[in-house]
Amino acid sequence: MQLRYNYRAYPDAAQCRALAKAFGCARVVWNDCLRDRKEAHAAGLPYVMSAELSRLRITQAKRTQERTWLADVSAVVLQQSLRDLDTAYKNFFDSLRGKRKGRRVGPPRFKSKKDTRQSIRLTTNAFSLRNDGTVYVAKVGNLKVRWSRRLPAAPTSLTVTRDGSGRYFLSFVVDSEPGILPEAEADTGVDLGLSAFAVLSDGRRIDSPRFLRRAEKKLRRLGRELSRKAKGSRNRAKARLKVARQHARVADRRRDWHHKASTQIIRDNQAVFVEDLAVSGLGRTRLAKSVHDAGWSAFVGMLEYKAVKHGRTFAKVDRAFPSSQICSACGFRDGPKPLNIRQWACGACGTVHDRDHNAARNVLFEGRRIVAAGRAETLNAGGAPVRRAHVPAQRGEAGSPRKGQPTRAGIPGLQAREHVNR
Ligand SMILES: [Zn+2]
Repeated sequence: MQLRYNYRAYPDAAQCRALAKAFGCARVVWNDCLRDRKEAHAAGLPYVMSAELSRLRITQAKRTQERTWLADVSAVVLQQSLRDLDTAYKNFFDSLRGKRKGRRVGPPRFKSKKDTRQSIRLTTNAFSLRNDGTVYVAKVGNLKVRWSRRLPAAPTSLTVTRDGSGRYFLSFVVDSEPGILPEAEADTGVDLGLSAFAVLSDGRRIDSPRFLRRAEKKLRRLGRELSRKAKGSRNRAKARLKVARQHARVADRRRDWHHKASTQIIRDNQAVFVEDLAVSGLGRTRLAKSVHDAGWSAFVGMLEYKAVKHGRTFAKVDRAFPSSQICSACGFRDGPKPLNIRQWACGACGTVHDRDHNAARNVLFEGRRIVAAGRAETLNAGGAPVRRAHVPAQRGEAGSPRKGQPTRAGIPGLQAREHVNR
């Protein structure tokens, strides 16, 4: 399976300029190629193949007056930009034909200098890990990196990004063998609640930590302050940067915490069942804010790929399954319960239920039933095929990595902290 490993990088001033140039060139190639395809489509001409675009918009363009600066950056960066465009088109076409699950994908869009997130993608012939702990990027130099955890194997590709608050990140894609954990006795159902972050079928409640809630609160306050500043003013620009920084901080902390919580659940349980949330549906209701804050879908994605990685069974229970209506003690269907009902007594057997705990138990029972019936799209139940496309860790990565000279695994000369396996 493919996993992403992200690290913060600290380019010096000259490297920042080289990266800005690379971001710009990748964007120009993307936009030039996209324009060609759009114009061909509008004129009723066939789809322009990438070989032709590569020749026209990269190789030949470098020799023209107005694109001569394309030669200043690594050719790999330009080629990968075109590949990413191909992938964006493929996702769009697959989505149109119904071959792609999930949310509808729109056609590729033009990129702008003003986009908050700028990126380039490199294959192994354009980057390498150095013995001194830096990462060499072609035509940029050796970047300083904070290695927050060990790379488990040689990376097959690297994406360098600059985010809205001016921070740089290296994101490596690594093909990793599943690290099968010793078998655990327990299995669990997980209810993603609104009162607690999650409730497990054994009754354990997982709350978001206080530091995260505090950071989120600060984010909301900064957002309000921003909205009060006059449009176009310097103060507004300052406030916007503050919001962007706090956003990044909250996202980092939330991700770290999600990693810890999901790893714990996967370690403790041989099988994990979660309700398949209609998060995109909920997103349009008044629950939207709390749903997005809680970051459930990212969390479920982590459970899913860690289950694959560690040889656990993972299944989603159909969202139509009435987990909050059924009595988990006797199986009686007690009817719908509005969200404000936190506790209820079963009309048949009289058992008093905590709403979330009862739901988690029902998710567990339903998950077991699905797996027993062999109907689950389990990722790794007894050798079931692993659906590569569904492993969320490779989110954003275009296609499968291409073969290249392997670079070294691990972090040269550095002792590292292991996040994933904790
Ligand atoms: Zn009952």
